[in-house]
Amino acid sequence: MKRKGYKYRIYPNNAQKELINKTFGSTRKINNLLLNEKEAIYELFKDYPELLKSHKYLTPAYYKTVYPYLKEVDSQALTSAWLNLQNAFKNFFTGSNKYPRYKSKKNFRKTYTTHTINNNIRWEGNGIKMSKLGIVKLRKHRELPENSIIKAAIISKSATNKYYVSLRIEYEEEIININNDFKKALGLDFSLNGFYVDTEGKKANYPMYYMNSLKKLAKEQRKLSRKVRGSKNYYKQKLKVAIVHEKISFQRNDFLHKLSRKLANSYDIISIETLDLIEMMKNKYFSKKISDISYNKFVSYLSYKCEDEGKILHKVDKYYASSKICSLCGLKKKTLPLSQRTYSCECGNVINRDHNAAINIATQGMISYLSSITEDGTASIA
Ligand SMILES: [Zn+2]
Repeated sequence: MKRKGYKYRIYPNNAQKELINKTFGSTRKINNLLLNEKEAIYELFKDYPELLKSHKYLTPAYYKTVYPYLKEVDSQALTSAWLNLQNAFKNFFTGSNKYPRYKSKKNFRKTYTTHTINNNIRWEGNGIKMSKLGIVKLRKHRELPENSIIKAAIISKSATNKYYVSLRIEYEEEIININNDFKKALGLDFSLNGFYVDTEGKKANYPMYYMNSLKKLAKEQRKLSRKVRGSKNYYKQKLKVAIVHEKISFQRNDFLHKLSRKLANSYDIISIETLDLIEMMKNKYFSKKISDISYNKFVSYLSYKCEDEGKILHKVDKYYASSKICSLCGLKKKTLPLSQRTYSCECGNVINRDHNAAINIATQGMISYLSSITEDGTASIA
């Protein structure tokens, strides 16, 4: 079984909007009630691990009797909020999460998750049917894979008051038979200037959407700082700032979708570097550029598009010295300072540094592919 998420814009009517917003508030309430209890119980039992472990926390069903308005919303959403916080605590204790927070009315991500029970989340008419909400109008820009099962739905509202549903689905994976014809391979060498250079020496020429909007963003933010916090004009201006951010993210997503689509359609084996993003994000200058480029997003778009097309996406080990190796003779230099933009080798190879690296990266993908072909002619590489 494969899992995936599909996000759609939805257009709830006024009554549905009201109910969705009520559900945001109710899941927030459950989060805060349970967090409150968690902290109290921890204080009480912290020296008695067995008691702490065996304590039964109050459930959403109980809270419904105390706060009857909770009965009006999708009960699965309440259960999810409750389970989410339980998991957040588990993750906090294993060190993979920060300490769970109370959610305030003003500042929290407006989203809730609901799970499918007895096929209650399903396509119907020109929309999607969900518990309590009924049929919500939806723009179906993309079909789900065949025979997929909707496991859960995440309903969210953006800062610009647009509504979305993200469907978490499961489906059977098709087994791809790779034919052993000539394969078109491509390697990408990422750089913070222009996004990447490919095997043919071409740059992606990524428009730095965020950087280019900085002036406009600063102007709108300046205006916001002059408004009285909490006033009507303040919220009006806040929406304007959110719209600038949203536009940047729309443009960026559009670019990344088109680019990854083009690559997945044109090549059979695409190799990319594995970047040490955590290390790179420590540098302030790099981190701004990386988040503008949205490298992770690009890789995830490219990855699922390659999968859809039966193409291979190969991730080269991050310790592979793609820059130092000569793409013509294979000789490896001991050092190569970053300032040196041209790679020149004693074999006579003189080539742009990033172009050289891209060829090496493509070669790595090809080697990995060729060595994975089995006798029955199938291949699978990571
Ligand atoms: Zn050489």
